[in-house]
Parts: sequence; C-alpha cells; structure tokens
Amino acid sequence: MSQTQEQKAVSAAVPPTASAPAKGKKPRKQEQEAARSEITELTPQVLRMELPIRMPGLGHVNCYALLDEDGAAVVDPGMPGPDNWNALKKRLKQAGLRVKDVHTVIVTHSHPDHFGGATRFAKQSGARIVAHDAFRFGVAPQPHGHDHPEVSVDDLDAQREALAPEQDGESSGRAGTPHGRPPPSPERGARTPWGGDPPRPPVRHRLKWGAMRLLGKGGWVPTITHPTRAGAVLRLGGREWFVVHTPGHTEDHICLHNREDGLFLAGDHVLPTITPHISGLSSFEDPLKEFFDSLDEAAALPDVELSLPAHGHPFGDLAGRCEAIKQHHAERLDRVKEISRMLGPASVQAFSQQLFRKRSWGPMAESETYAHLEHLRILGDAERTSDREGNYIYVTA
Ligand SMILES: [Zn+2]
Ligand SMILES: [Zn+2]
Repeated sequence: MSQTQEQKAVSAAVPPTASAPAKGKKPRKQEQEAARSEITELTPQVLRMELPIRMPGLGHVNCYALLDEDGAAVVDPGMPGPDNWNALKKRLKQAGLRVKDVHTVIVTHSHPDHFGGATRFAKQSGARIVAHDAFRFGVAPQPHGHDHPEVSVDDLDAQREALAPEQDGESSGRAGTPHGRPPPSPERGARTPWGGDPPRPPVRHRLKWGAMRLLGKGGWVPTITHPTRAGAVLRLGGREWFVVHTPGHTEDHICLHNREDGLFLAGDHVLPTITPHISGLSSFEDPLKEFFDSLDEAAALPDVELSLPAHGHPFGDLAGRCEAIKQHHAERLDRVKEISRMLGPASVQAFSQQLFRKRSWGPMAESETYAHLEHLRILGDAERTSDREGNYIYVTA
C-alpha cells in the first residue's frame, strides 16, 4: 500500500462521530456498520479486518493483524463458529496470509466475539494464545455469577429509539442480552444482590450455548497458553507492545500500547461513539470506578496517535474520547441523583425504570443502574438500606 493510500486509510478512519444519516435513512453508529470484506492497512504492518457479528448494537468486530517476518499475530479473532472462521480465512488470504502463518492470538477480554476464533488457530497453526491472567469465561467466581454484554443499555436504548420511536409503549419492557453468552450460572432461583432477577441471555442463546458446551468446552473457549498482565511487553509485528490492564467492561480487559508509533489497541475499553456495558455484577466493589480509573490510565498514555477499537473505526484523540465517556457517566450519575430527589428512597428497579425507556427495562438495565448507585454510595453520595424482602433501597444525598 502506498503512503498516500495509507494516509487515506488512516484519515478515513479518524472521524470520531457517527456519520450523518442520509435523508430518510435510519441513523447508524459506526459500531453498527456491517463488516466490509476489504482489509485496511492502517500503518505499516498493521491491518484491520472486519468480521461479521450479529448482536444488538454491533455489526462487526475488528480483528487486527500485526505482521512480521514470521507471519502474523491477530488481535480478537471474532466469534466462534464457521461463519466467522470462513470470513477470517478470506481476509487472511487477501492479506497474503495462511492460517498457519498466525503464530499468536491476542484476546483483549473474555467475550465470545473477541476470543471465538482463537481455539481454531491454536489447533490449526499451533498459535500461542495470549490474554490477561484473569481471563475467565462462563465461570462464576461469586454466587450471582457474571454477565457482561457488549454495549451499554443506554446506547441500545438510543438505537432502539432511533429505529422505532413510536413503539415505546408497545414494547415487552425487557432488555435483550447483547452478548450470546452462557447464563451467568447463579443457582436456580438466585437473585441479584439488589433483589431482582439475575441477568439471563434469551432462551435461544442459552440453548445454543448449552449445546456447544455439550460438544466440549475445548471447541470454543480457548486455553490461554500465555497469560499476561499489566506492564508486560509483547514483541509483535516488529514492535514492542506494552500490556495495559483496563478493568471495567470486564475484569480481564487488556489494551496494548506501542509508544514508538503511537498505536493503542483499545479492545472494547474505549469505543469511538458508544460506551461499553459496565455491569454491577462484578467481583470489584465499584466496577464503575475501575472503569474510570482505566479510562484515566488510557488517557494518560504518552504519544498515542491512533487508537484501534474492537468495534467502529480507528480514531485519534484517545484522551478526548476517554474524557467524553467519563462525562457521559457523570451525566448519568447526575440523573440518578435527580431521580432520587423525585422518587425518594427507591429500589434499583425503580431507578432503572426512570433511567431507561420501558423497552429496555430488565436485568441488564438494573445491573447498570446498580453499578451507578453503588458508585454513588461508595463515594458517600448515596445511602443504601434494605426493605423487608431484602431488596436494596437507595437514596442519594
Ligand atoms: Zn466486550
Ligand atoms: Zn466487543
């Protein structure tokens, strides 16, 4: 690719806002765009390959290939299953690569659209699989388990509103689970800490994942051959990449930073126009604070010129985007306080039903609401008591 083409590819990638919808067309966030088959060389030896996914709020996942004389490392090789694998093989072929040229797979975090293709590489090319040493999937380290969809309910809410504003009153009032991932495995009948139903993926996803599990875990959840952690240095694609641990969206999320060329592999931590789902169900006391700290850490990285997110276009001004995401959450926190003034002491469900439109109500919306309420409580800006049934009741200062 010539210098001019590269520049073009990079500059085309940089606009941080969603493209304006054409007249009469529904607005679409860049993270929702369907996967394009063409690959983009963003900078020498760094390719963006878009892989198809079907999840609310997302139309593709970016798999980045880092080329070197031994072949390639790939970052986030997409969903499990043959559709993804076939698309991935095609993209690699376009880049002049074979599956067996892939010597390393980096998984930014334990969500299936990021690790799905990893096991096939391990089997077919003997690739080493690198992820944070806390990488966990489908394991419940605490009684209520974990569920971490991709996109915030807020963004999904806005997207649904854009698509069908008139149907608000007609909705089922239940948030879909963006991630087709296994149930968080609470015991049957278990309730969330705040006293609601636990988040559960739709039945069809549970059946599918259940069947896949029966076929063997090894079929789709990778074994991490090379666990890594903050501060480690990975030599990939002829560059040195520093591992930055960025818990928030998941506890095991990592980003990679190459200072020399100002590159930042952002995973789902910092997305160009939407915010990732932050679950209240976490082994962290205050998952929102973890996320803010991780945003501060990303924003403080020196010399970042181009951020490569897992969904959407590569973008500039990482620090600005981190600040905008924090600002978004600050506004949500203010809104929670406003709701408290209006409702008085109230349950997580009651807060959640004020924060979100009816069509988005449900366990995922409650989980995000709970994360915000707990953040305020830990800051000393809210008090928590329990009602007779053991449901949490919050009131903000
Ligand atoms: Zn994710
Ligand atoms: Zn993702």
